[in-house]
Amino acid sequence: MVVLRDVTVDYGNGAPALQRVNLTVEKSEFVFVVGPTGAGKSTLLKLLTREVIPTEGQVWVAGREVTQMKLSQVPHLRRLIGTVFQDILLLPDRTVWENVAFALRVTGASSATVLREVPRALEMVGMLPKAKAFPRELSGGEKQKVALARALVIRPLLLLADEPTGNLDPVASQEIVELLLRINRQGTTVLMATHDWTLVNAYRQRVVELQDGRIVRDELRGVFRRELA
Ligand code: ADP
Repeated sequence: MVVLRDVTVDYGNGAPALQRVNLTVEKSEFVFVVGPTGAGKSTLLKLLTREVIPTEGQVWVAGREVTQMKLSQVPHLRRLIGTVFQDILLLPDRTVWENVAFALRVTGASSATVLREVPRALEMVGMLPKAKAFPRELSGGEKQKVALARALVIRPLLLLADEPTGNLDPVASQEIVELLLRINRQGTTVLMATHDWTLVNAYRQRVVELQDGRIVRDELRGVFRRELA
């Protein structure tokens, strides 16, 4: 699903953000990308949506080489990928339903598709009962669930979560990770960047650890060592 071959990203402001990174993530895998702030986690995820273009190396997503891709093909790439972030940007003057529907409408989906897919996505994250609520009426964890529904509504092959629990309390954080795991079990490949070792240790998934732009560890069912947190 994802292949990085000898990828270096140099923003030109000091040491490269990623240095000769090699990584393969198979379809339906769940991967925690861990490491301290500045290690290169976000940069790694942004390569996959082509928000960042590598200085050297190649990036494949779902069999397509992203670096060589024509600009006209980038929207198609992005329709394969759902994204959630630490900062949850919902439209404040739209309901939960409208926030999720909007993400689907911009892909050109028909009204029938919207009517079918929005409740499916909200149901997956347990937010269908709050479909008519506005973002200000929701807790942080609930907002992140809506953001997750918005990412899922396009039925992505790949879900990228960049510090999705960064602003949440431990209980809400667990709920989000458990949702990501459930989504993964239904076949979506998930990459979650985090520096929260308690979460990583609780779920024993594949762990790819970055330090100063290099992969220093890649373990199945890994544990994030406390001293690095
Ligand atoms: P992480 O997600 O692990 O905190 P990042 O990928 O955000 O790491 O950052 C890795 C390094 O690249 C840091 O040194 C950061 O300052 C730098 N960096 C990230 N984004 C940019 C950018 N758009 N322009 C310049 N430098 C950047």
